[in-house]
Amino acid sequence: MASPHLDVAPGRLTAEEIERNFSDLHPPLTKSNALIAADRCYFCYAAPCTMACPTGIDIPRFIQSIRSGDIEGAARTILSENIMGGMCARVCPTEVLCEQACVRNGHEEKPVDIGLLQRHATDPVIAAGKQLFERGAYSGKRVAVVGGGPAALSCAHRLACLGHEVTVMSRDGKLGGLNEYGIAAYKTVDDFAQREVAYILSIGGIEVRTGVALGRELSLAQLCRGYDAVFLAVGLAGVKQLDLDSEDLPGVIDAVKYIAELRQSPDKSRLPVGRRVVVIGGGMTAIDIAVQSRRLGAQEVTIVYRRGREQMGASQFEQDLALRSGVRIRHWARPVRLIGKEHVTRVELECTREVPGGKLEGTGETFALNADIVFKAIGQQMAWDELGAASAILRITDGRIAVDANRKTTLDNVWAGGDCVAGGKDLTVTAAQDGKLAAQAIDAYLRQSG
Ligand SMILES: Cc1cc2nc3c(=O)[nH]c(=O)nc-3n(C[C@H](O)[C@H](O)[C@H](O)COP(=O)(O)OP(=O)(O)OC[C@H]3O[C@@H](n4cnc5c(N)ncnc54)[C@H](O)[C@@H]3O)c2cc1C
Ligand code: SF4
Repeated sequence: MASPHLDVAPGRLTAEEIERNFSDLHPPLTKSNALIAADRCYFCYAAPCTMACPTGIDIPRFIQSIRSGDIEGAARTILSENIMGGMCARVCPTEVLCEQACVRNGHEEKPVDIGLLQRHATDPVIAAGKQLFERGAYSGKRVAVVGGGPAALSCAHRLACLGHEVTVMSRDGKLGGLNEYGIAAYKTVDDFAQREVAYILSIGGIEVRTGVALGRELSLAQLCRGYDAVFLAVGLAGVKQLDLDSEDLPGVIDAVKYIAELRQSPDKSRLPVGRRVVVIGGGMTAIDIAVQSRRLGAQEVTIVYRRGREQMGASQFEQDLALRSGVRIRHWARPVRLIGKEHVTRVELECTREVPGGKLEGTGETFALNADIVFKAIGQQMAWDELGAASAILRITDGRIAVDANRKTTLDNVWAGGDCVAGGKDLTVTAAQDGKLAAQAIDAYLRQSG
C-alpha cells in the first residue's frame, strides 16, 4: 500500500510502543481473582446469562466448576456447547449478551465477569492441547465444509465428533476466517486464532484444503454430487461502497483489507499510517480500524457516522474504547465528496437528520475534514460474483443465503451458516452456533438417509 502522500508513513511509533499498544485488551485473571469473580455468581436457576448466550453455555455450571477448582470440567462445559469458547471469551460483546443479562447488574451495577472466567477455564486446556472430545465411530458419510472461519470450524468439529469424515475447503491460506484476518489485534494476541484452529483440528477426521475457493476451483453442483452433505460458510467477502466519485483515489481504503494486512504483519511499525484518519461507519469494523490507527500512531482519528450514538452497530463498550483511545466520533453526518488529486486530502460531509418514518436525509449543511487516509467501514456483503453458479441455485434473502432454523438451505443436501446467511447477528459466537446447529441437522439427515 505504498503512498506518495507525505502524511502517510510507517514508523510513527517505536516497535516497543506498538507492542504495548497492541497488548492484550483484557488480560487474563489470576487464579485468586478468578475465585473472587466466581464467588460473585448466584448460580441462578434458569440462568438469564445462559439464555442470553447464543450458544447456550451453562454458565453457572462452569463457574461452579471454577469455584471448586475443576478447570478442566469448566472448559468441557464451555467447549461442548461452543468449541470456539476460547476466542469468544476474548471477542464476544458480552456487555450486550451474557453479562448484560446477569442479575448482578441489578444489585451492584456490575455483572459477573463471565467472559474473563470463560477465558480462565479454556486457556489452560487449549495451551496444553488437552483433548476433551472423542472422534465418533466412522459413519461412512463424507461432508464438505466450505469456508474456514468460526462457522466452518465449529461445524467441522461437531461433525467429526459425530463420526463423519469432513473436508474443510477454504479460500485463504490460513484457517480461522476473520478470527485470523479481521478481529482487532489486541483482542487476540499470541497467535491465539491459530492455536485454537490447531486445537479444533486435533480431534482428527478433518481434512483441510486451503487456497481453494467456491466459484474458482470448486462448484456447488460438484460438491453436492461428490459429498453426502455440504455446509457453506463463506462469510462476506464483498465490501459496501460509498458510491461517491473518486472512491478509487489513493488513500481511500477498505478497512477490512487494511486490518487483514495489519493482522498478518510481523512488524506493525512498518505499516503505513495516516496522520489524519477519517473512518466512515458505525459498527465494530469502524471502531476497530479507528482504535488500531491510533495505536499505530495516527494523530487525529475521526469516525463519522450518519446516525446517532444509540443507532451505532458498535456496542457502548466499543464506543467508549474508541473515545478512551482518543478517537473522535461525529454523529449525524455522511460523506458527500472525496477531495484530492493524486491522493485523498479532504472529505466533505453533509449533516443528516432522521425524518418521520425513520428515513435519513441530508440537511444541506456541509463541513470538511482533512484526511490522509479515509477508511470505508460501512459493512460487508456477499461477493456473489465470485461464487460461480451458486447464486443461481440457492435461494437468496436480503442478499444472503436463505436458511431455516436448522440452517438448511432450500437445496436437498446443503446447509449454510455464519455471516453468509440471512437474519444473523454477524458475530463470532453466532457463527459458531450456526456451525453447531447445522452439524446436528446434517447428522440427523445422514443417519435418516442410511
Ligand atoms: C473487522 C472486524 C472485526 C470484528 N470484530 C468482532 C468482534 O470483536 N467480536 C465478534 O463477535 N465479531 C466480530 N466480527 C464479526 C465476526 O468476525 C464474524 O461474524 C465471524 O467471523 C463470521 O464467521 P464466518 O465463519 O461466517 O465467516 P468468516 O470468519 O468471514 O470466514 C469466512 C471463511 O470463508 C472463506 N471463504 C470466503 N470465500 C470463499 C470461497 N468462495 N470459497 C471457499 N472459502 C471461502 C474465507 O477464507 C474464510 O475462511 C468482526 C468482523 C470484522 C470484519
Ligand atoms: S445471571 Fe449472573 S449471577 Fe446469575 S448465574 Fe448468570 S453469571 Fe451467575
